[in-house]
Amino acid sequence: MYPPQLGYYRPVSLSDALDFLSNGDVKPLAGGQSLIPMLKFRILKPKFLLDLNPLKELNHISVGEDSVIIGATVTHDSLVKSGTVRIDLPLLHQSAKKVGDMQVRNMGTIGGSLANADPSADYPAVVTAYNAKLRLQSSKGVREVEAKDFFKGPYTTELREDELLVEIVFPKLKGYNYKYAKVVRRAGDFALVGMAVLAKVDGVMKDIRIAYTGVSDKPFRPYELEKSLLDTKPSENVIRDFAEKVASQVNTPSDSRGSSEYRKKVMKALTVNTLKEVLGVVS
Ligand SMILES: Cc1cc2nc3c(=O)[nH]c(=O)nc-3n(C[C@H](O)[C@H](O)[C@H](O)COP(=O)(O)OP(=O)(O)OC[C@H]3O[C@@H](n4cnc5c(N)ncnc54)[C@H](O)[C@@H]3O)c2cc1C
Repeated sequence: MYPPQLGYYRPVSLSDALDFLSNGDVKPLAGGQSLIPMLKFRILKPKFLLDLNPLKELNHISVGEDSVIIGATVTHDSLVKSGTVRIDLPLLHQSAKKVGDMQVRNMGTIGGSLANADPSADYPAVVTAYNAKLRLQSSKGVREVEAKDFFKGPYTTELREDELLVEIVFPKLKGYNYKYAKVVRRAGDFALVGMAVLAKVDGVMKDIRIAYTGVSDKPFRPYELEKSLLDTKPSENVIRDFAEKVASQVNTPSDSRGSSEYRKKVMKALTVNTLKEVLGVVS
């Protein structure tokens, strides 16, 4: 199956790309792992593709004192191979290793995955757990959006037609335990249920952030339930109670990967096992 006839633009700089994007009916092309199939199936029929791959401005990992900034066209494989990401953003590093297969990781990008906002993708949960900020830029200027406000629903985000996601700003967190856990039916699949956890424990839970993928139409973070765990000593009972309550807060979807009921069971089991590991609770 071939994509429809369309134009292709190769920009020489970010400002050139943003000017071209402002013409309208243009789709940014990153790794093409989601966009090309959508073109082939005629789900999208833009007039032009704007190739982001020549833009050096979008392909960097920069370390500041309190943050790590990742450009939108950094591939999954570059995240896996980056020493900075492994040391300063271990949760992101762990999740990047679990995206698709080797071919997808070689081509697909963090910006493409976030802009695509698949309800079962891995990074939306990860950026939500980190409280990361997403930098969106048009020819008129730059704005920063909190991860929790970026995702609006399935394949729908805060991005306007004339904007690119240019960078993701992650805070450097010190002294946190972490885990990205993912249940898949077959190796290389999108998540049936995925879960990103960051926790600071000093006898009791000082901070805990939990974000799920695959259980709702966008990343799900149970903020109020997280608060109820603070200053509590981690134990099997506390974790099992949390798992029951969190699963009752979502209307898990049914699709080819699993029924709603099955997803909910998986969500509970994944929550118990992952929290026990992250919080150091032994049965
Ligand atoms: C077989 C297979 C298995 C996969 N498994 C997983 C998985 O397990 N977990 C997972 O999370 N993902 C998975 N994916 C998706 C993969 O992560 C893709 O890389 C991702 O969805 C899209 O990234 P991309 O760079 O290829 O973007 P593209 O396909 O090029 O673009 C996707 C969409 O985002 C827009 N876009 C891209 N970049 C920007 C930008 N900087 N600013 C604004 N809009 C932009 C495009 O216009 C398009 O609408 C899988 C894909 C395949 C094909």
